[in-house]
Amino acid sequence: MDAAQSSGAGMVMATAVLDLERARAVASRVVDPEIPVLTIADLGILRGVRIDGHRVVATITPTYSGCPAMLQIADDLRFALDGAGFDDVDVAIAHDPPWSSDWITQEGLEKLSGFGIAPPGGEIVCPQCRSGSARVVSRFGSTACKALMACTSCGEPFDHFKDF
Ligand SMILES: [Zn+2]
Repeated sequence: MDAAQSSGAGMVMATAVLDLERARAVASRVVDPEIPVLTIADLGILRGVRIDGHRVVATITPTYSGCPAMLQIADDLRFALDGAGFDDVDVAIAHDPPWSSDWITQEGLEKLSGFGIAPPGGEIVCPQCRSGSARVVSRFGSTACKALMACTSCGEPFDHFKDF
């Protein structure tokens, strides 16, 4: 608590806005446990952050129902916000509307490609040689969100983040 917070309603409001911006910034830097180059904001998993009294409420939408990473993400959000001084944190899970791979940001799609994962939406392109010909090796790759593909040009296996 600093002096600004007790010097009038206007300052309290301003502090609340700053807190909200800071909470949003902290929450949006939390990374996906399965693809740690992507933040939950990149993936569109983080739907919103609000301040309710003294509580920070972060709302997330699972990439698919029963995604085991969600528990980890909720823990990571609490940990990150707690570390930033928000000790009252609630993580709400919203299932409606369901998450869509369309919610992945442009930056997120580029990070996926850079990480060697063919992004969802559009043609599947080999991240190694950019060939558009690949076959499905397994519908479930390293995680249920991804399919394991093999490039028929260069032979390299790669993950494809499936369309949802
Ligand atoms: Zn290839």
